Amino acid sequence: MRYASCVIRMPLNKTFSYRIPERLDGEAAIGKRVWIPFGPRRVVGYIVDIQNKVDIENVRPIENVIDREPIVSEELLSLTRWISRYYICSWGEAIAAAIPGVLKKGRTSMRPKKLFRDRRVQKTLDLPPTDEQRTALDVIKGSIDDNEFLVFLLHGVTASGKTEVYMQAIGHALKKNKSSIVLVPEISLTPQTVERFKSRFGNEVAVMHSGLVGSRRFHEYKRIREGQARIVVGARSAIFSPVKNLGLVIVDEEHETSYKQETTPRYHAREVAIKRAEITKSIVILGSATPSLESYYNAKKKVFKLIELTRRLKDIDFPKVNIIDMRKEFYQRHYATIFSRPLRDGIERVMAKKQQAILFLNRRGFSTFINCKNCGTVMRCKRCDSVLVYHYSKKRLVCHYCNWSAQPLEICPKCRSSYVKYFGTGTERVESELHRYFPEGRMGRMDTDTTKKRGSHDRILGKFKRHSINILVGTQMIAKGLDFPKVTLVGVISADTMLNLPDFRASERTFNLLTQVAGRAGRSKEGGRVIIQTYTPEHYAIAAASEHDYNAFYKREIRSREELALPPFVNIIRLMLRARKEDRVIKASNDLAKIIKKNMRSVKILGPAPAVISKIRNQFRWNLVLKVKEPQEAAISLKEILKNMKRPSGVFITVDVDPISV
Ligand code: ADP
Ligand code: ZN
Ligand code: ZN
Repeated sequence: MRYASCVIRMPLNKTFSYRIPERLDGEAAIGKRVWIPFGPRRVVGYIVDIQNKVDIENVRPIENVIDREPIVSEELLSLTRWISRYYICSWGEAIAAAIPGVLKKGRTSMRPKKLFRDRRVQKTLDLPPTDEQRTALDVIKGSIDDNEFLVFLLHGVTASGKTEVYMQAIGHALKKNKSSIVLVPEISLTPQTVERFKSRFGNEVAVMHSGLVGSRRFHEYKRIREGQARIVVGARSAIFSPVKNLGLVIVDEEHETSYKQETTPRYHAREVAIKRAEITKSIVILGSATPSLESYYNAKKKVFKLIELTRRLKDIDFPKVNIIDMRKEFYQRHYATIFSRPLRDGIERVMAKKQQAILFLNRRGFSTFINCKNCGTVMRCKRCDSVLVYHYSKKRLVCHYCNWSAQPLEICPKCRSSYVKYFGTGTERVESELHRYFPEGRMGRMDTDTTKKRGSHDRILGKFKRHSINILVGTQMIAKGLDFPKVTLVGVISADTMLNLPDFRASERTFNLLTQVAGRAGRSKEGGRVIIQTYTPEHYAIAAASEHDYNAFYKREIRSREELALPPFVNIIRLMLRARKEDRVIKASNDLAKIIKKNMRSVKILGPAPAVISKIRNQFRWNLVLKVKEPQEAAISLKEILKNMKRPSGVFITVDVDPISV
């Protein structure tokens, strides 16, 4: 008699044994999905092991084997097991994250609604590499040939030819019969990006991202499994693509926070990429103009191999950056303005010359802060501990955390005075002010409010490309990847919005974003200019970004991280406890802190303390932040603690290892 050890997609930290009935003996195999009874239900299980005996009695039988061929390879089994250990989730949850949605529900295939025919694309050939590119490619190709596990950090300024390096590395891998996975942030997974790879490698390229409808996704998945597509370009979850003979993983814009999944399993695709490469003896290229502090630190410590591309191609200079001290603007004019004099002049010049401008602000809505001048009351969401934002287009006050909305107020709900004032600026207000100052301008706005519908993202960019928009206002959505040669002015309405966030990565985020935004200007011979408005011009993140000086920023920032014992000098594990009753969540947090203190001696605990937004959707949120030196070991201890702990009813705990914000 044989038995199958199965895992399921539930937060249960163990494997379950089932008997393999005789009629299924030839079919059951590791990596296949099965239908199994689970309590009164019937669920999909994944076979992770097969044994000849078990210690328990009355083992129930497997009902059915779903797959003809295993869908989780040995490689993906080890990868997902590592994820479950490191990120503290169940193995079943990790496996479920690694396979396409339709397969989680126990289906075996999906018939495409129509035949997918690929558009013909113009074929492009390798460009003769520059000296810097050649040096980079020589080492990378050498490593591919040697079948070694190695992580490269390709630090290249914007437009230094990183993508060309990726493509020639992929081409080399292909010659050695090796597959490649290219991860790009979801937001930059545009038709432009995909086209660049397709035009070089044609049908060898499969594309994986969340915007694809299920059947199309499944079609691409099958092409990868069957080895018809040996190059995968995709967002975060593409790291699990079932490619055979992996040789190369590329993580473009490796510093991007969207590589971190914000639901269980809360993995970081960069870390998973490195792990998968280690398992398969492949190489990883992490590319960025502004590497994460973690990656650059690893490069300095020689854990990663650093390659630098310092020159922009086509002799395009970096755009000139002007920092505008908004305090001075205020003294001179005695009223707060959205557009400083230099920014207004800049926009006028752009319009006169029939060029284009991008204006960036990291906040959506119209007014972002509403309070009563009489009693000081700030308008807050009923269900969350957050301030309401006025949205002009909806004529509503909206909560950005739970989407609850209310009628705009003219009378203070507390003191009944009529001194209710609307403050703060969001993208909607910037757009409306533009209409006021520049009535002849053609404005467009891109933020989560204007891009809800499928295709609206591309539609706005299409308009910008055709010049039916000449001034584009937007949030971080417009900071990345856009390449429009007629954009000669980039304005940052306020560099302070990100800097003032209560998070240890606020400076890093600000530096990255400013550098990225600045990179949108001056992509052609017409040159370009960047104007950054700020109330804190002396801050090193702003100063370094304006000088395009990554090293200056890194030196300052890494010093402060070391002094404060923050990543990369420690790893952070955040435990968030939620409950509808505040006293419950406080008690549970204190109890958990005590247990951790007793059982994990080397760990430094911060808190428990209320989260920055201490209530969302009527649930109180408390945080426990652990600083650990050995994340692997800490995760094992913590998993044990959570497993054995009596969780008070109504209290939910989520664990986030290496969270992107605290
Ligand atoms: P990055 O990825 O660093 O932003 P890209 O790879 O997109 O840079 O390169 C910027 C531009 O330079 C692109 O238009 C690209 O086609 C071009 N380019 C890249 N490498 C070369 C090369 N060796 N010779 C000529 N043009 C190149
Ligand atoms: Zn009032
Ligand atoms: Zn709310």
